[in-house]
Amino acid sequence: MTARSITRHHGGHRPGVTTADLVTAAVAYAAAGIAVLPLHTPGAAGVCSCRAGAACGSPGKHPRVRRGLHDASRQPQVIRAWWSRWPHANIGLVTGTVLDVCDIDTARGLRVVLDLLGVIRPPGPLIRTGSGWHLWYAAEGLPSRVAIAPGVDWRGRGGLVVAPPSLHHTGARYTFQQPWQRPDLPACPPQLRALVLPAPPPLIISPSAPVADLDRYVQAALAGEAERVRRAPRPIIRGGRRISGGGRNDALNRAAFRLGQLAAHTPMDETAVRRELTEAALSTGLGRAEVQRTLSSGWRAGLRHPRRIGDRQSAAGRHVRKAPVHTWPEPHS
Ligand SMILES: [Zn+2]
Repeated sequence: MTARSITRHHGGHRPGVTTADLVTAAVAYAAAGIAVLPLHTPGAAGVCSCRAGAACGSPGKHPRVRRGLHDASRQPQVIRAWWSRWPHANIGLVTGTVLDVCDIDTARGLRVVLDLLGVIRPPGPLIRTGSGWHLWYAAEGLPSRVAIAPGVDWRGRGGLVVAPPSLHHTGARYTFQQPWQRPDLPACPPQLRALVLPAPPPLIISPSAPVADLDRYVQAALAGEAERVRRAPRPIIRGGRRISGGGRNDALNRAAFRLGQLAAHTPMDETAVRRELTEAALSTGLGRAEVQRTLSSGWRAGLRHPRRIGDRQSAAGRHVRKAPVHTWPEPHS
């Protein structure tokens, strides 16, 4: 599945969803530790079941219970009682304890997120909503934050999301495009964490601007690239002989290249980027001289192939293949 096929594919209408399906799903979410609550339902022509009706600004997305999130429950008997009272209620999930959600409203937002993550498609559960996508991650105490990128919100502590197989006001059902292999949820990638958390204030004002001064997206991209370098496969040595070189140098070259690409458009402190990547590369055991060589050549090659975060081409990895220095595998899919 490519970024574009994620964009095209849609769960579509599923008129066959019954109350039993909704209850089964809601009880299963609760069994995984997620607090559940019944939401209003979009009826014909997307009109909300709440008192505001056609004037509702959030059709099918807000609680039916009086105290909202405070009434959310993990108890099957409570959940069953709600759906016998409101057989068509949408399913709301409270975020921030078990589940955090990257809530993407636009195709542009999806491209930015996939590009930052350096993947064709995200790992873990991917939900097609009526008009966007939800990426599910294991909660780790992050706050909720709107507009972490254009068209992208983060639902963390105290947040609420609509879950499959709820009905969207467009008539589509919320659908798992990639399933949830319960109970595991992927950890929040460092790139997204960097967007959710405000950058810490710089502690030391030095002539070389601290990393905290970098643009938020560059900061997020740098966090991801440094993480990939740290996790690059180590060489395999058997019987005193090196039988595989590992992927550390390639990962470093790729990181320098991708950040160099951004530097062509975005003001960026090369010293700060080099410092961070150098630290990551040295931690893998690469030698300092090799690190500096690879960084310089990757960075220069990147400058010659500019891109902006979320560019269509870069999401598909097209520019990356042109890099003259090394070859590396496609972003894993
Ligand atoms: Zn409403």
